[in-house]
Amino acid sequence: MNQFLSRRIFILIPAMSLLKFIFKPKKVLASSLASEEDWNLSKEEWKNKLSPESFYILREEGTERAFSSQLNNEKRKGIFYCAGCNQALFTSDTKFDSGTGWPSFWDPIQGSIETKIDFKLIVPRTEYHCSRCGGHQGHVFNDGPMPTGKRYCNNGLALRFMPE
Ligand SMILES: [Zn+2]
Repeated sequence: MNQFLSRRIFILIPAMSLLKFIFKPKKVLASSLASEEDWNLSKEEWKNKLSPESFYILREEGTERAFSSQLNNEKRKGIFYCAGCNQALFTSDTKFDSGTGWPSFWDPIQGSIETKIDFKLIVPRTEYHCSRCGGHQGHVFNDGPMPTGKRYCNNGLALRFMPE
């Protein structure tokens, strides 16, 4: 990247975030698109299918209160499924105690999630969602444990746990 371009981006990105912040759009980002036709439901269909709390997380990219989810302390062996479409997202083998107050994992089940960058806070973050229904799950950070060094910070309300 040449210097001119990188400087422009350096200015542009905070400027865009700031604009968003000032205008405070009433509606948050629409959720990511579903990859399978069957899961391309309307807002009303999702509302009928989910609890209001899960709808807010999965379909409006909300965030639950820290330490509010029982799954935060879930230590049994089992699988964590998408609360929207029941796709398996994480196994208990990759769960760890991050101390953040949200269920945390260092690796998803292959192919089960997709990511995008969001600018909701001033600092860009990597949002991730279920690859099948597009339901928002959380954000991924680079301060996780080995072997991946990733921390998938997940909303408990977006998951359903099935013990082995
Ligand atoms: Zn899903």
